[in-house]
Amino acid sequence: MAKYDNNFIDELRARLSLVDIIGRRVPLIKKGQNYWGCCPFHNEKTPSFSVAEDKGFYHCFGCGAHGDIISFVMNTEHLEYPAAIRELADMAGLKLPEFKPKSPERVQLEDSYFDIYEKATNEYQKLLFTDAGREALEYVRRRGFTDDMIKKYRIGYAPKNNIISGTFTNVKQDALIATGLVRRGEYGLYDFFRDKLMFPIFNAHGAIVAFSGRSLDGSEPKYINTTDTELFHKRQTIFGFNFARDAIHRANRSIVVEGQIDAIQMQCNGFPETVAPLGTALTEDHIAILCKSNRNITFCFDGDAAGQKAAVRACGIVLPFLRDNSDVRFAFVTGGKDPDEVLKTGGTDAMKKIIDSSIGIIDFLWNTTNKTYLTSTPGGRSQAEKFLKTQIDKIVDTDFHREIENEYDSRKFNQWHKWSKKKDKLPQIDLPAVDEITKNTLIYIVNRFPELVEQYGDFLSTLNIDFDASVINELNFDVKAAEKYIVSLKLQRYITRLNNDKKSVLQLALAGDAGAGALIDDINAELKSANQKLEKLMNIE
Ligand SMILES: [Zn+2]
Repeated sequence: MAKYDNNFIDELRARLSLVDIIGRRVPLIKKGQNYWGCCPFHNEKTPSFSVAEDKGFYHCFGCGAHGDIISFVMNTEHLEYPAAIRELADMAGLKLPEFKPKSPERVQLEDSYFDIYEKATNEYQKLLFTDAGREALEYVRRRGFTDDMIKKYRIGYAPKNNIISGTFTNVKQDALIATGLVRRGEYGLYDFFRDKLMFPIFNAHGAIVAFSGRSLDGSEPKYINTTDTELFHKRQTIFGFNFARDAIHRANRSIVVEGQIDAIQMQCNGFPETVAPLGTALTEDHIAILCKSNRNITFCFDGDAAGQKAAVRACGIVLPFLRDNSDVRFAFVTGGKDPDEVLKTGGTDAMKKIIDSSIGIIDFLWNTTNKTYLTSTPGGRSQAEKFLKTQIDKIVDTDFHREIENEYDSRKFNQWHKWSKKKDKLPQIDLPAVDEITKNTLIYIVNRFPELVEQYGDFLSTLNIDFDASVINELNFDVKAAEKYIVSLKLQRYITRLNNDKKSVLQLALAGDAGAGALIDDINAELKSANQKLEKLMNIE
């Protein structure tokens, strides 16, 4: 069986929606946590096939069929593993990585690299507590590290002289160079890290695969990391993940901070579920790794402009991973501090306050849009619309995507348009009550498809219908048709309301209100878009 890079498979799983992929073959209905449908692997009339989106697998209680997104594609499309991966990568819009099988020699070589890192770490650890490392030790203690923490994170000191290239003489030079610890210069080998406070970087299994060295004499850059090697890819490694993994399961969320020291201090002061990207750039791979445990992520950024920018970037990266049960949030540390300083001055409580005051991704995206674009002008609104659309189009879960769209539509209507703010001035014309046929159809729908009430309850309750009344006619509706019926009614009534508002504004214009002209333009634009939506809906079979 061809084996692809685990990170790639993780990202594939994280980006695609199991419910979407299965839903293309089998109509699924959500009941409780899971989705249910008729099993595609055996013949049945009542659904015993369940899909657990959050866990990433399906299970049939009738025939025992069981598997994940990959085995589903393999079994339903009769594909071998590599072909299924290719097809899924296509759907996810991901480029297939080159397939590189690991030979036994390769495994042996990698083991020898692990060995070098391990020995180097021991050496650096020892040196931290010698005369040479005194300054480094003072610094790390000043930053609030206890000896237990120094031991747990295996922090050390790389001296000014060439300790690795000078003393690891029984190791092959090529191997030393391949680890990134040593470079070849004009006068022979020299150490890459010199006079640095050394933070080992662990892979998910707790093996050291690289180092991050902090300068001690104030020289820039503050941190240098091992450049990418065969064992270490900066874009695919999250600092602290090996320590945080269990806590991320237990807390049912992860916290992402910007710096390594922040991550360590968070982990040791009440937030063991904290990690940090290496350097500042967060990547899809980082999110995919976190999403393996759960899709609940709280980003914690600096409150300054750079932090805001980083948050917007993180938001764009996380959207394809979002599901309807995800809880992705953004917290900001204000006052020019970082989490490390907050913990030092205010302790766990102060940090908890910041994390608790985080805002959800839906609000964050909305606030960002309104801060970035001038929504009091038609041009600004048009730009804002485009920005919002490109963002929410990244959401792969189709039901969720539609819900988010509705949510923003209503926010746009309520907050962007001047005439809706002028509502008090406009005489309110009541919408006509729905006719008997519509009423009976809705009573039927509500009784037959209670799952729709959750979604459209707010709208249905505006209609003043007694839904406890008994059903008059059995109608030949499936859930899709029922939903279409509700949405089109909602749109029709919205259009009626807009027309009413337009009439009122025309009255204002006749009465000499100078701003009325612009209001009419706004209403006309909204009418156009609502009519287009209705038309599109009616064209869907
Ligand atoms: Zn079955």
